[in-house]
Amino acid sequence: MPKVSSDAIVLRGVDFSESSLVLTLLTRDYGKIHAIAKGARRLKNPFESALDLLAQISVSFIRKSGEVLDLLTEAKLRARFRPERTTVRALCAAYYLAELLDLTTADDDPVPELYDLAAETIDRYQRGDKTADAREYFEWNLLDQIGQKPSIRLCASCGERLGLERLAAAGNWILFSFLEGGVICPSCQARGSFTQTALFHPDVFLRLERLDAGEPVPSIETVSMNIQGGVRELFDLDFCHILSRRPKTQPLARRWL
Ligand SMILES: [Zn+2]
Repeated sequence: MPKVSSDAIVLRGVDFSESSLVLTLLTRDYGKIHAIAKGARRLKNPFESALDLLAQISVSFIRKSGEVLDLLTEAKLRARFRPERTTVRALCAAYYLAELLDLTTADDDPVPELYDLAAETIDRYQRGDKTADAREYFEWNLLDQIGQKPSIRLCASCGERLGLERLAAAGNWILFSFLEGGVICPSCQARGSFTQTALFHPDVFLRLERLDAGEPVPSIETVSMNIQGGVRELFDLDFCHILSRRPKTQPLARRWL
C-alpha cells in the first residue's frame, strides 16, 4: 500500500488499546481520513504530542483499502492549538468547528479550500481575533463548500427575487424554509404551507449577501440583536437540518456567541 504525506488537522482522537490512538484527520490532499497511531499513548512515542485536538501537523501515513484504518507513520507539529492561551469563547467555537468538519465532510474527498479555511479559522480562534466574526465567516463558507449554501435573495420555492431592502423598510420579517433551503417570497408564503421554517429580519440576509460577495461587513458584535441572533439561529438550525441532528458541541458554542 502506498505511503503518502499531507498537511492535516486533528479533528478527533479516541484511545485504542493500551498504547494506540485512532484519529480522525482532515488532510489537505486526501480529505478526511481515519488512521491508527500505534504507540501514540506511550510516554515516549514517535509522534511527540503532535496529535492533540485541532493541532495542525504534517503527516505521513500508509493508505489501506476498504474499512481498514490507515496507518500513521509520522506526525510533525506545525501549529499547536493551545486551549490555555485562548478564551472560553474561542475554545467552544474551536471544538464546534472540529465537530462540524467531522460531521459535514465525507471520507477521502479532498477540498483544499476547505482545509485552508479551517486552518485559518483555527489560527484566528487561537489569537482571539474577533472570534464571532471568524466563526460567522467559517460557517457561511463551510455551507458553501459542502454545497449547502442557502438561497438568500431568490425565493427557494418559485425563484422570484425578493426585495429585501423594501421588506426591511416596511418592517416585514421573512420566512426561511430549512427544508426548501432558502427564503420564501411573500406570495409563495401566502399560497403554500411550508414546514421547518423560521422568521428572520431581512437585514440578516442583506448581511449574508455582502459576506457572500466578499464585501466588508461590520463586526457581528456591533450589529443589532435582530441580525446577530438571526445569523446565529439561521446557521445553528441549518446545520441541525443538514445533519438531521444537533451537533453535541453546538449548545455550548451558542452560549458563547
Ligand atoms: Zn416564491
